[in-house]
Amino acid sequence: MRLCAGVDLLLQIVNHVVLEISDTMGRLQLNDLTKVFDSGGNDIVAVNDLNLDIRDGELLVLVGPSGCGKSTTLRCIAGLERATSGQILLYDRDITHLKPKERQMAMVFQNYALYPHMSVRKNIGYGLKITTDLSREERGQRVEETAELLEIEDLLDKKPSDLSGGQQQRVALGRAIIREPDVFLMDEPLSNLDAKLRTTMRTEIQQLQQDMGITTIYVTHDQTEAMTMGDRIAILDGGELQQVGEPLKCYHQPTNQFVAGFIGSPSMNFLPVTHDGETLEHDTFTYTISTETVDSLADASRELTLGIRPEHIQLAESDRGNAIETTIQVVEPMGEVTYGYFEIGGETYTVSIDGEYRMEAGTQVDIVFPEEKIHLFDGRTGAAVKNTKLEAVADPLQV
Ligand code: ATP
Repeated sequence: MRLCAGVDLLLQIVNHVVLEISDTMGRLQLNDLTKVFDSGGNDIVAVNDLNLDIRDGELLVLVGPSGCGKSTTLRCIAGLERATSGQILLYDRDITHLKPKERQMAMVFQNYALYPHMSVRKNIGYGLKITTDLSREERGQRVEETAELLEIEDLLDKKPSDLSGGQQQRVALGRAIIREPDVFLMDEPLSNLDAKLRTTMRTEIQQLQQDMGITTIYVTHDQTEAMTMGDRIAILDGGELQQVGEPLKCYHQPTNQFVAGFIGSPSMNFLPVTHDGETLEHDTFTYTISTETVDSLADASRELTLGIRPEHIQLAESDRGNAIETTIQVVEPMGEVTYGYFEIGGETYTVSIDGEYRMEAGTQVDIVFPEEKIHLFDGRTGAAVKNTKLEAVADPLQV
């Protein structure tokens, strides 16, 4: 018994140490990464003091609007751009100034970048030929294995011009996978594909990444891709990190109005209000808030922005507290959901309801913003002062 207890204790200690190490190790770290371009005498700060800790085996999505610095960040990590300042660490080793081929990383680009004159077989194997001293047979074997993994064995003798966009993207993935890199870097790899293929490839890349367990940084401007693929997502704006976290955390608890508006589709509705005691005052309505919400506003400015997601708005049949009377002007049935557009104070807002229900244009309705679902942002800084609770997301298996 005593021996068992001792072994147990030892195991606990080992587990603790392993957890501590894996929690703090961070396979790829960006420390104050900054990239400034000189554009005809003007400084363009593409990436500004970026700090990120990407875990071993994680799929981290870098997302943000066009020009926010996603590709530049990725290119700095790959060594294709020289960082102006800051550090890039891989397994605690400073790789900031290493050449691309010394970094053990493989990059997949939006335009596939395949060699048009080479067969698929040669395209996939080319990297091995120039970076390893594997024999011709060994390289051939690895190409066959990679093609099998991606289910493109029958394309090996074709040229890129004979392939569809999806097939070309698979070849580009094959070329990256075969090198067995420490890190995958993917720059909008699915943008050139049609919507249906994009959805399929999204799942395939996720599956492949999970099976291989290779740390991956995936760049996209598409918030749906970010939400569905990322273990965590990092949202950038103007070269600066706005938030990094699990997708649902960013959705329910955005750090600021920018993240709130960027994550979620259709976008969150924003209404300007002022805070006055126990009420929020809009030009056209008064919204009574609980003492809990009043308390959360203690340090906020008087000017606030009320945020409510289209899917969280309720349509009330009869007069309810905090209801706002309006008219549904346009209806868009999507099947699964129906979007309705309505006006408050001359601005157009969106409500999304379950597609099972009918909503008619021209119907007068009472709109309700349930208090537990509203977000409030400081009108001056945009920082979130009230968010929704993450615990409100139920586990379907427990319901
Ligand atoms: P997109 O989604 O449109 O590709 P992005 O988020 O990837 O955008 P970057 O390509 O990283 O953005 O560009 C960030 C900023 O740096 C932009 O203002 C861009 O114009 C600028 N920039 C990028 N490359 C250069 C360059 N070689 N010279 C000068 N400015 C550049």
